[in-house]
Amino acid sequence: MSIDLSTPPVPISFEVYPPRSDAGFAALHETIRHLASVDPRFISVTYGAGGSTGGRSLELLTHILRETHIEPLAHLTCVGNTYAGANALIREFLDAGITSFLALRGDPPAGASEDDAFLGDLESAAQLVQLIDRVQAERAPYTEAPIPGVPGAVRVEKRRKIDIAVAAFPNGHPRSRYASEHIDALLAKQAAGATLAITQLFFHGDDYLAFVQRSREAGVTMPILPGIMPITSPARLRRVLELTGEELPGDLAIALEVEPTAQGQREVGIAHAARLAREVLDGGAPGIHLYAFNNHDTVLEVLREAGVLTPPSRVPDPTR
Ligand code: FAD
Repeated sequence: MSIDLSTPPVPISFEVYPPRSDAGFAALHETIRHLASVDPRFISVTYGAGGSTGGRSLELLTHILRETHIEPLAHLTCVGNTYAGANALIREFLDAGITSFLALRGDPPAGASEDDAFLGDLESAAQLVQLIDRVQAERAPYTEAPIPGVPGAVRVEKRRKIDIAVAAFPNGHPRSRYASEHIDALLAKQAAGATLAITQLFFHGDDYLAFVQRSREAGVTMPILPGIMPITSPARLRRVLELTGEELPGDLAIALEVEPTAQGQREVGIAHAARLAREVLDGGAPGIHLYAFNNHDTVLEVLREAGVLTPPSRVPDPTR
């Protein structure tokens, strides 16, 4: 499989994270079944964020690979990995059948800030893109699989090129020292071999559309998928602003604060995300990537409200 954003219907994709407990994994398997039912182009699994390691990410990625028809996309970070460690990890993921990656620098680990030295000898996402590309190139160009029922016979297939996605920041990265540094960083990732960009969350359609235009003018040619996060409570808004350094979106903050019930706040968040999705699609976005927070109801409702999904979704019966 590979990620193809060129064919209808509107390409959609989701991000999930590896839960900390076995019970969390069981619940997430159910969520993934629902997410898979709307045929996303891929489901991505975070790495390191919230303490998840390669092992727990890989467990979830292989579940998606084995139990659904959806392409799993593995986040990998420089943070927490040396060059040699990342090299081994990429091989382990490729051996497990994972062939799509999102190469990231990674968030500073708990207790560290952007000003601390928290990286080893892998210093940027562009270097990680290059490493993934190199590891892939070093592997044998063909795979051999036994042909069932024909003893000793093997089927030889050309190994397909892997997809390498990277992060993009419509409103700049908090670490940027000059206004367009994040676009230079995106160009460096493209030059290193990245084939797709996924954006940080943003709160206004124009943030994304203007960023895409500036990126194109600078020479970025890969598709730039808008990352949309339904903000369904004031607490979640505070948390994501803390994590991303984005500016407080006054209109959304007020709309959430004046809603007295959790259900009302959820509806505000869904309506806001759906409007955003519609705006960027109408402006030419190649699809929609949704931060699902390991829950399917909210993101599927966003897609329905944005007119991207026709209800109801088809959920396969796990007993059949
Ligand atoms: P880079 O591209 O390496 O750099 C980020 C920015 O730093 C650049 O835009 C540039 O402005 C600046 N910069 C780059 N090089 C230099 C330099 N040499 N000197 C000064 N400034 C420089 N984090 C996780 O830990 N796990 C995840 O699973 C995860 N998933 C994510 C998914 C998406 C879609 C996004 C948008 C982010 C995700 N993050 C995740 C967060 C991400 O790791 C952080 O935002 C990180 O700070 C930047 O990562 P990057 O890959 O863009 O880094």
